Amino acid sequence: MNKIPVSLSNRHIHLKKEDVKTLFGKDDLTYKSDLSQPGQFACEEQVVIVGPKGSIDKVRILGPVRPDSQVEILTGDCFKLGIMAPIRESGKIEGTPGCKLVGPAGEVELSNGVIVASRHIHMSEDDAKQFGVKDKDIVKVKIGGDRGLVFENVLVRVSPKFALDMHIDSEEGNAAGVDRKGGEGEIVK
Ligand SMILES: [Zn+2]
Repeated sequence: MNKIPVSLSNRHIHLKKEDVKTLFGKDDLTYKSDLSQPGQFACEEQVVIVGPKGSIDKVRILGPVRPDSQVEILTGDCFKLGIMAPIRESGKIEGTPGCKLVGPAGEVELSNGVIVASRHIHMSEDDAKQFGVKDKDIVKVKIGGDRGLVFENVLVRVSPKFALDMHIDSEEGNAAGVDRKGGEGEIVK
């Protein structure tokens, strides 16, 4: 009762259409597999992220294309790349650092868009009613198990397009003992 499924996000990239063209030399992304949110999918395409201190290869592109390109990295990646990305909600990229992306057909120099995604829960309006929360609420979520902990500052995102799922990154998952198969959590007041 009242459990929320928890999924891990690894580093990944969302691209605008013109950057797809530059990096891959084609107009569209190639579907690979579904993600937890309806309409969102992992793509076959991968690129290299290049920063002042280093690079990370085989970074997955997630579709569909978006109005702005956005690179979501892990805190450990910030040190490897030499890019101090702020913790941001997806889509809030104003004033964030950029990076270079290298694809098989070309390179893109992003002037901004590199973030560490803030932990969040996707839910429908019905779910929100059931949990007694609303869009943009900040809640705490308790994870059980051997490495159990309470995540604070979890953003609630409510939309009829969303399926119930909490998203944390793989470093947060490691810290909480949640593996790639996912886990579950509980909102605590
Ligand atoms: Zn999410």
